[in-house]
Amino acid sequence: MKLSIILLLLPSLFINKAAALNLEDSDNVDIKRMFAIGVLDSENIKSLNYRIEEFRDSQNLQWTFRIINSTEDPTPVFFAPHNDEKEAFDTGVKFITKHHRGTIVNLLCNNKRYCNNLDPNRYFCNVSFANKVFSFLPTFGPIITLHNNEKGSVQGKNGLGNISINFPLPRTKTYARNTENEDDMVIHVGENPPELMSLQLHQFLAQAQLNELYELYSTKYFECSMSYEAHRRNLFYVNIETQKRSPEDANYGLQLDILEKVLSWMNSVLQNSQLK
Ligand SMILES: [Zn+2]
Repeated sequence: MKLSIILLLLPSLFINKAAALNLEDSDNVDIKRMFAIGVLDSENIKSLNYRIEEFRDSQNLQWTFRIINSTEDPTPVFFAPHNDEKEAFDTGVKFITKHHRGTIVNLLCNNKRYCNNLDPNRYFCNVSFANKVFSFLPTFGPIITLHNNEKGSVQGKNGLGNISINFPLPRTKTYARNTENEDDMVIHVGENPPELMSLQLHQFLAQAQLNELYELYSTKYFECSMSYEAHRRNLFYVNIETQKRSPEDANYGLQLDILEKVLSWMNSVLQNSQLK
């Protein structure tokens, strides 16, 4: 091979090597924390791929995505946009190591909610950013996101959070089925009246006695959120939203339980709609 060709190939070889990271050698706080609490161990990381992708959007803002996926089966895909919501990231990784399938995409933002001084979950009116995020996700959906919120509610003056099943937000319908765990809920988005899939999820959540928040899609009040953007793209969107808890909390792990329930419902719906 000519030296010029080797020199041309060198940068791409280097990029590929840099992109595939070793979890065990990572000095990232979240990865170290997951080893400390047993979410990751030297055995289960053998079937995980870990990589980082940098992206610069049309406003010249830099974004860092980290992706962990099962080497056996990369589906389903979860997106956790907020870097201060630790259980959300843990939930995705725990699902993958437990079921030997799946991918979690997480934004790295110095352990903070805000990236580039903005909420990434309200930045989906930037087409380049939205296209980048959706490029990680299944073309035909479903879009599954993982979030954590602050305990209690400001409205009820018993906590810090803005999201509570006991205090509905504008343009939402809430179905409170577990008022004690007011911060834990399944959020989906759609029209009024709801489409078939939303109705089916509503029925499932009622039967499973899980809190439900249904966002009514509005072009007038388009808030640049991922949920609205997913719906605008005709993609089914579900967010598993639970309270921020530490691993010592008895209810830490509830998010994984809810995720597993919703996914088993989703699998049954998809199987029933297969062509026969
Ligand atoms: Zn969040």
